[in-house]
Amino acid sequence: MPVTKRGADKPRRIVISLGGLTSSSMLSHQLELIHAVAPELLHAIDVNAEVILTHGNGPQIHMAQRAFAVASTEDPTVPPIDLPECGAMTQGYIGYHLQQTLAAEMHKAGKHWHVATVITQIEVDADDPSFGNPTKAIGPRLTKRQADSLMEQDASFKFVKDGEGYRRVVASPRPRRIVESESILNLLDNDFVVIACGGGGIPVVRDSDDLGCYVGVPAVIEKDAAAGLLGDDCDADEFIFLTDVDGAAVNWGKEGQRFLGDITVPEIHAYMKAGEFGSGTMEPKVRAALRFLEQRPDRVVRIGNVRNAAAVVRGEAGTCIHY
Ligand code: ADP
Ligand code: MG
Repeated sequence: MPVTKRGADKPRRIVISLGGLTSSSMLSHQLELIHAVAPELLHAIDVNAEVILTHGNGPQIHMAQRAFAVASTEDPTVPPIDLPECGAMTQGYIGYHLQQTLAAEMHKAGKHWHVATVITQIEVDADDPSFGNPTKAIGPRLTKRQADSLMEQDASFKFVKDGEGYRRVVASPRPRRIVESESILNLLDNDFVVIACGGGGIPVVRDSDDLGCYVGVPAVIEKDAAAGLLGDDCDADEFIFLTDVDGAAVNWGKEGQRFLGDITVPEIHAYMKAGEFGSGTMEPKVRAALRFLEQRPDRVVRIGNVRNAAAVVRGEAGTCIHY
């Protein structure tokens, strides 16, 4: 088995990708969900010395942009704002909720760890094909009338049919490099619980005039792909996807639906190729898992329910992918 770059005596490092719980843009609902999951997360942190948390922002980023757009029509002092700034804002306030809630749980448990959020930029290619083919769904499911009205108000908005409704889609370029990687690693080395790459990170490209500078681009990176990059940079030993279902299933939504427990890379790879995992939902998790395991086969990936986080981390629930 390959040896971790950080040496065998180092504490186990775990990347936890928080999904499901940020599925609502309502602040009270989001906070309620985070409160419900915090004791479970604390347990996860307790059994593992170094934890990096990341999370989604699909509902929130759309809400933030719409809030400014609507307000700007009423009040000339409020400008409309673009997706990169909305990404930064949502990373900030979701990180704030997580910091506050985790710190309160830690205080109750007599732990004195620090928690910090890193507003994270992720470099993408300016010519990534996704800019011409937006596929990442953000915001709520709308009626045709609502979607048409939004497209009328903002010509850059695109919608696709999703079941009975319509979802807004944006470009989702492949994440290439975490700009704040060094900051994240420094915090981890100094015993911080780090929240980073929220919402997949803010997508940026290099400024053509100055190679050291970045500019934001209107897109949303798939958080599961960004989490994979975070796992690489941190040389993580384990990768845990917490979501709103009990794991990866075969025959999803059909007769014979079955959640996968312990499964090897070749087995789950075959299921992925057969199209068992929903694109834009479960498939990116499995894809990131396979990439993560390919790089260092001694690693483990778990996918399980956020409401059962402690059991998932202990390996007592969810799907466990390994070589
Ligand atoms: P998040 O990324 O926030 O965790 P997603 O909605 O992107 O949440 O992914 C989880 C969803 O994936 C589940 O709610 C489920 O509807 C969907 N899904 C699609 N295919 C599968 C599958 N094969 N097994 C389990 N869930 C699946
Ligand atoms: Mg998702």
